[in-house]
Order: sequence, then structure tokens, then C-alpha cells
Amino acid sequence: MAQSKKITNDLRVVIIGAGMAGILSAIKLREAGYTDFIIYEKANRVGGTWRENTYPGIACDVPAHLYTYSFEPNPNWSQTFAPGDEIEAYFEGVAHKYGVMESIRFGEEIKSCEFADGRWHLLTAKGERDTADILIAATGVLHHPNIPDIPGLDTFAGARFHSARWDHTVPLEGKRVGVIGTGSTAIQITSALAAKVGKFELFQRTAQWIMPIENAHYSEAERASFTRDPKLMASLRDQLHEMMIGGIANAVIKADSPEMHMIEKACLDNLENGVKDPGLREKLRPNYRAACKRLIFSTDFYDAIQHPNAELVTEAIEAVEPKGIRTKDGRLHDLDVLVLATGFAADRFVRPARVIGRDGIDLDTVWADRPFAYLSISVPNFPNFFMLNGPNGPVGNFSLIQIAEFQLGYIMQLLDQIRAGTCQQISASLAATEKFDEARISAGKGSIWSTGCKSWYLDKHGVPASWPWAYSRFAEVMATPELDAYDLVS
Ligand code: NAP
Repeated sequence: MAQSKKITNDLRVVIIGAGMAGILSAIKLREAGYTDFIIYEKANRVGGTWRENTYPGIACDVPAHLYTYSFEPNPNWSQTFAPGDEIEAYFEGVAHKYGVMESIRFGEEIKSCEFADGRWHLLTAKGERDTADILIAATGVLHHPNIPDIPGLDTFAGARFHSARWDHTVPLEGKRVGVIGTGSTAIQITSALAAKVGKFELFQRTAQWIMPIENAHYSEAERASFTRDPKLMASLRDQLHEMMIGGIANAVIKADSPEMHMIEKACLDNLENGVKDPGLREKLRPNYRAACKRLIFSTDFYDAIQHPNAELVTEAIEAVEPKGIRTKDGRLHDLDVLVLATGFAADRFVRPARVIGRDGIDLDTVWADRPFAYLSISVPNFPNFFMLNGPNGPVGNFSLIQIAEFQLGYIMQLLDQIRAGTCQQISASLAATEKFDEARISAGKGSIWSTGCKSWYLDKHGVPASWPWAYSRFAEVMATPELDAYDLVS
């Protein structure tokens, strides 16, 4: 075994991003005795996606008691699916409680990270430099708005913004609001706004399957009992876990599983029973299988789109004009406000930061075909660079907090090797990464995501980019790293 070259607390760790995964990293590093770590955060507040997405109706589609750090249960969640501001407040509260705030450098965007002389050399947008032994990218999955390439978009004379950049100074009361897109975001916006604005038009390119899962409120008495008896909360968390993992996450990986057919039936019944007008019902009927795109949970979308204020526009968009949207049938849809609920570039991860690994290898070049990482965590030749919720991890209807906790536990075990002096540099081996990728691509073919729809779950080759196996398999592989899969350099 190599000589111990580092002392325990001597490793400097830089974390990029102060969202859910960055806050988690800081807490767990401190707990493990690391003293020299810092989070670089481009914004001025913590919260990541929950800081950026503030659109009306925003809520998490993973039950709140599951979308919670395992070590910091929250008895006060108001609903099964918590609203965005509650989630953001939760992360802020946790960051304060665990003393994470003082480890964050706000307003500092990492522009480049270069591995040279055994360390990471970082440059921020402000021109500051820093170095690190270990780099953890906690940069999230969906954070770069996808701005559609629609002719004339910039000519719109009213207010226009992406759903993740909601402009709360724009009044909506009595206004004609158009929303492009029918993903989870647009569905929530529709439920929240259709009845409240002057006129609401939803521009649908592809219909969505909607699973009617109730978003029940927790009563004051229930919340008080969670506070009094945390075991109640733990047991609720277990039940929700079983419902999400057994009922949905494990179903979607087998396109023909009985559970998958149950989901389809629930969605179909919802459509048949929930939409009165046969013409509208047909417009809302997807022509692909349920859960091929991310499954949407809503009990109020169909009501909202049937509100007298609301119109579902299925005619394709020709162009945006100063006064509104012109559809291919020649009709001009006059609008005051245009919302682009058009999703995100899902293949960015740590980018646009430039990441240069061993011997000048550029991550952009390595990922030119598609982003990939061994077990979603490590890329060959990028030593001591680890990702949380990186490419090919489970991003279905899982709690990404649970996923990040697993991943961080795994990463910390890799770091233990460095702390113990077994090696100084760790990155996945090319052979292990290729083997993993081949198996992943092959398994993805049996998933519901491969049954013939377009979604952000697919890479540019139409291959599911998400973890295609059971949640339990993910938990198993995260339990203990197989060091044979890594290049360890002393
Ligand atoms: P999304 O699921 O990627 O949906 C984007 C929508 O925009 C799609 O309906 C897409 O149509 C449409 N679109 C894109 N470009 C277009 C164009 N040029 N013309 C017309 N339509 C266009 O994005 P999202 O709704 O923001 O959701 C992304 C993910 O964020 C979700 O899947 C979920 O993981 C997460 N999220 C979760 C929640 C929640 O927790 N409830 C809420 C919001 C978001 P096509 O379908 O035809 O491509």
C-alpha cells in the first residue's frame, strides 16, 4: 500500500452549486471531519431549481416526506406534494441549521476547472482563482432553459419569459396569457392560472398522460403528531417510498409489467372520466404510452383546461408576432403575456463550465456524442471529479434527494481511499465505464421511455439517458464502491 501522503482533514474540496446536492455535500463532508471545503454558487441564494422556478402552481411531483433529507425530516410539510416556496424555505433552513451558509461563496460562477499537477485549478466568472484536491459538481440536471426556435419570438410586444425565469412584476389579472408546452411545468401553470386570468391559451404540441394522484393537505393535527412522534413520519416516508418505487419507478423500467398497465389504465380512466367534451378529449389523448414521457400527477388539470377562460390550442405554431401567436391555420392568438414552458437542455450537467481533465482532455469533447459517467458519478481521466445527479442516474419519478444521498455516500467512500493514502487520484476506468454504458443502453431498450415518444429522458440518439434498472439495484451498487472499476493513481 502506498504511503499516506495526505492527512485526514487536509483535502480541499470544492463543491459547485448550493442547491439540494451542494448543501447535502457540505453537511456530510463536515460530519466526516473535512474542514477545508467551499461551495461556489452563481446566484445569491441557495435552493437551486427551487430558487429558479417560481412559476404559479409550482410543486414537487415527488411526495414531500420523501423529497426530504433522511437526516432532517420535516413535520411541517403542508401537502403531499409540497409547493416550491416551502421546499426552497426548507433548503434554506437546513443550510442555516447546519452552518452551511458560511461555506458558500455566493455570486461566484465557476467558469473553468482544469486538472493539472494533481489538483483542480478553478477560475470564476469574476476572475478569481482557487484550487482543490476534490471537485464535486452539484450542478443539477434541469437548469438551462430551452428557448424554442420559433420564428419571430423576439418580436412579441407583450411580456415574454421562460417558466424558470418567471417575471412576477408582470400583472396577470384580466390578461390574455399564452403558455407553450405541456410538460409538468405547463400542466401546473394551467391548473394555477386558467381560472384566474382574462383568457388562458395552452399551446400543445404533444398531449400528455395525466395520473390523478391527490395532493392532500396535512391537517394541523397531523403535523403536530409528526412533530410529537417522528416515528410516524418515518413510517409515512416508508409508505410513500413503497408507493413511488414499487408503484412507479420500478414499473417504468419494464414496459410490459402489470404495474405499467395499471398506470396506463389509471391515466386512461382519468381522461375518459375527466374530460366531458369528446372533441377536447380526443385532442388531449396522447398517441404514445403512458409514462413514456415523465408521468404527470394532477387532479385538477382537466378541470382547468375545461374552464370557460381556457383554450387548448393544438394547431401547430407558425410564428410569434408582436400581438401574439400565429398558428398554421392562419389564426392570430392575441396575447398580453407569453410563457415558454418549453423545458430545459437536459444534457448540460456541470457545463457550461469548462472541465479539463488529465492531459488536457476536455469534458465537452468526451461528451460530444452524449454525456455519460460511470454509475453517473465519475468520468475516466477526470480524477477526483465527482458528480451528484450526473448523467445516466435515476431521474424518473424518484426523489433526487434520496439519489444524491446514495451517491454522496459512495463518493465519500472513494474519498476515504485518498484520505487513507491508498491513492491520490481516483477516476472510473475506461473499461468499467464502457461496460456500464453498454449494459445501460441495452437495458434502456426495455423501458417505457423507449416505446416511441420524444422526451428529455432520451439522448440525441433516442436512447434513454436515465438509470434503466430497479431502484434497489441502484441502492446496492451505491452501497460499496468496487475499486476494480477505478484507476487509482498514487
Ligand atoms: P418538458 O417536460 O421538457 O416539457 C417541455 C414542453 O415544451 C413539451 O410539452 C414540449 O413539447 C414543449 N416544447 C418544447 N419546444 C417546443 C416548441 N418549439 N414548440 C412547441 N412546444 C415546444 O419541460 P418541463 O415541463 O419544464 O418539465 C421538465 C421536467 O422538470 C419535468 O419532466 C420534471 O422532471 C421536472 N419538473 C417537475 C415538476 C414537478 O415536480 N411537478 C414541475 C416542473 C418540472 P413536446 O412534448 O412536443 O416535445
